[in-house]
Amino acid sequence: MSTELPTKPGQRKCSRKGCGNIATRCQGDGTFYCIKHHRFKRMRKCSASRSLKTPSFLELDTMLKNVSDMICPTCGSGMNWNAPHQGARGSVISLQHWDNGKMSFICCRCNNKHGRSKLGDDFFKLKPSEKFCPDCEQIKNRNDFYRDSSSPDGRDVRCKLCHKIMDQKRNKKRCAI
Ligand SMILES: [Zn+2]
Ligand SMILES: [Zn+2]
Ligand SMILES: [Zn+2]
Repeated sequence: MSTELPTKPGQRKCSRKGCGNIATRCQGDGTFYCIKHHRFKRMRKCSASRSLKTPSFLELDTMLKNVSDMICPTCGSGMNWNAPHQGARGSVISLQHWDNGKMSFICCRCNNKHGRSKLGDDFFKLKPSEKFCPDCEQIKNRNDFYRDSSSPDGRDVRCKLCHKIMDQKRNKKRCAI
């Protein structure tokens, strides 16, 4: 897990105490962080800006010990400290604040999905055959959603029933004009 390597001439070590990793990022204030501590700093900044609990570097390091082999605990795919290439941003490790106040590391893709779902932590209890409709706020079978090839999961955002209601509302508006 450690990325500790002997420094070559011109290379710096991470400014965080006790971290022997090679620094990859200058923080703009004269300190240099390794890729991990750079990401930690971003997580702390992001939490603070959203008025969420902001863990210390030490807390983040402790939490990292519970992540085995950089695997996202909610989807099982590998996580990276940085996007290895454009389009791989979803794999970057991110900090999830759960409804119960706990925090853990999950991939950006899962974090974004969770943020969009309105379901809170129950989102991760969804079976692959299920989908949440934000209109009626019900968990339904995926077959209750129309197919939509333009959607990332291949199904319409709202369920068939809510889709119908939306269509009716639209038609009414059109008639009223
Ligand atoms: Zn470091
Ligand atoms: Zn994930
Ligand atoms: Zn619905």
